[in-house]
Amino acid sequence: MSKIKAMSIMAHQDDFEFTAGGLFAMLRKRYGTDLELKIIATSRGASGHHEMGPEETFRRREKEAQKSASIIGASYECMKCLDGFHIRGQVMPDINVLGGVWNAIRGFEPDYIFCPPVISNPLAGIHVDHYNTAWAVRMVAYQLIVPNAYPTINSNTRKRMGLPLIINVDDPYADESSFHVAVDISDTYDRKVEMSSCHVSQVFEWLPWTNNEKAPTAESFAKSFLDRHRNVNKKYGMDDNIPREFFTFTKWGRLADEKDLEILFGSEVITGNAGKFIGTRQELSVCKIWKES
Ligand SMILES: [Zn+2]
Repeated sequence: MSKIKAMSIMAHQDDFEFTAGGLFAMLRKRYGTDLELKIIATSRGASGHHEMGPEETFRRREKEAQKSASIIGASYECMKCLDGFHIRGQVMPDINVLGGVWNAIRGFEPDYIFCPPVISNPLAGIHVDHYNTAWAVRMVAYQLIVPNAYPTINSNTRKRMGLPLIINVDDPYADESSFHVAVDISDTYDRKVEMSSCHVSQVFEWLPWTNNEKAPTAESFAKSFLDRHRNVNKKYGMDDNIPREFFTFTKWGRLADEKDLEILFGSEVITGNAGKFIGTRQELSVCKIWKES
């Protein structure tokens, strides 16, 4: 069996853990060495700190992301653009950034990409880096199979590549309430907390500062993190305490099929009408609870 390859492309170093860390940890548990995981941050994440300058922030965030990724045996990278440099400042989907995303994907050849959604509601708030990372993935998606779409920064541009399935994660800035799959991540929730806690400069320093709150202890962070999951559940119409992650299948790359559901989420329990969104343009709410087989 060839290895399953799953990739996260998100704006900041800690976005992945918050939205898909539980699922990736479950995939590692399920597939062991038959799985390759790659985490990409499109931005340097260097603006977000109230005491450190951009360079120091960037260096710390890189180390934190690497430490977190290593917990589930994933590799981590801050994306390089077409010109060979990281994005400076905000993510804007120009040709330099699009080429960077295109090369990052073609370099890894993922079966699955997890990224933020393109927000269509004009009343919804956005984070410029999340929003434009979503746009960038969407904009390069078809051209992933076009070998000369972007000038090369690696040697893989001539190869044939199949389209990956591109899956949107929950975006805390978006006002979305539809999803295809809700995954019970109880089995790997502790791992998710451990990974998220690696981002000390964020969760124990920057985020509390932005909210004008006292820095949490490890214990109070764990409690507020679970509250966060409860609130996400509520947003999607589930009023309970089960930690979940929510996913929506796009048609940016290839279409999802039943096999993808089995590979990513297992086959134990499916509620709702999972079959109907496959190959259609309908956005159906489907609740699917993953259990280890
Ligand atoms: Zn972010």
